[in-house]
Amino acid sequence: MQINIIGLTLSQLCDLFIEHGLSKLDAKRVYPWIHKKFSSSFEKMSDLSIYTRSILQQKFSLSKGKCINIQKSVDGTQKALLQFSDSACVETVFIPEKNRNTICISSQVGCAMGCKFCHTGTQGFTRNLTSSEIMAQVLFWKEHFNISNIVFMGMGEPLLNTDSLFSVLKILLDKKTHNFSRNKITVSTCGIIGNQLNILSQFGVKLALSLHATNDELRSKIMPINNKYPLNSILSAVKQYKTDSNTNHITFEYLMLKDINDSINNAKELVSILHNIPAKVNLISYNDWPNSTFKSSDKEQIKKFSTFLLKKGIRTTIRSSRGQDILAACGQLKYNSNL
Ligand code: SF4
Repeated sequence: MQINIIGLTLSQLCDLFIEHGLSKLDAKRVYPWIHKKFSSSFEKMSDLSIYTRSILQQKFSLSKGKCINIQKSVDGTQKALLQFSDSACVETVFIPEKNRNTICISSQVGCAMGCKFCHTGTQGFTRNLTSSEIMAQVLFWKEHFNISNIVFMGMGEPLLNTDSLFSVLKILLDKKTHNFSRNKITVSTCGIIGNQLNILSQFGVKLALSLHATNDELRSKIMPINNKYPLNSILSAVKQYKTDSNTNHITFEYLMLKDINDSINNAKELVSILHNIPAKVNLISYNDWPNSTFKSSDKEQIKKFSTFLLKKGIRTTIRSSRGQDILAACGQLKYNSNL
């Protein structure tokens, strides 16, 4: 079976090539073809000998999966469904804005975390994506658009697939190829802490915590992971992350769920748990999906909640939902097997 090499860091590629009788120089030549010229075949790699190209063709692949569906929202957001060699599919989203183009990347096929409000969570977990499958999503969008920001907020929990995530981050931050600034990459977690979070902090990328509740009782009800890592431990871990990663703040994602977490008492509780953390709170109106039992707070309540936080000195934004009509907004991604 051919080995897909689009998700390998340069040093991984060098090692692999040497293992297969090729040279480091070959790897150094192939790498920019993949990441700067988005090449899909070895044939075009004109600075490699015909012999080397034939070995590459036999042993390796540059597969970016197959795009089996693409949907465009009225607001310009696009959602692509990519299928990989074992037929597993993931969704990835492109969000154009005035001053930036963001892509949202999936890290797993499905998700094991089972957050009650999340469409992906209802799908269950199939498997981790390889680094090549994660990279395929980035290259898919980069071939068509200038991408300024990347968020790992698609399907799955990135911190439960760190082997692949860390390889991809190394490639994205590589000055000689993608050259993303660490400030333009955000990794989101539902609250997985421990060694993997410590390693992530060394990349210096931004961290977003999907908080969604202000006390353990409520959070455990809607996010089962809270039973394993309760709020206290998560909050002190992300505070440490801020220091270790030298980032400006931690982003807290907070879905506004009607009559569940949207009262002024909840806002007070939020102020209290964030009191010593440099925080930015994103209030997100809940995006409905078929058979969901949750409802979004109404606009007025979101505004009240936001005003309360702002008055208490917490940097707060009400995030506009993008791509709702094509189920591309936060928490709406789910592979529809009928496609
Ligand atoms: S919100 Fe994130 S972590 Fe929770 S089930 Fe959905 S994809 Fe998984």
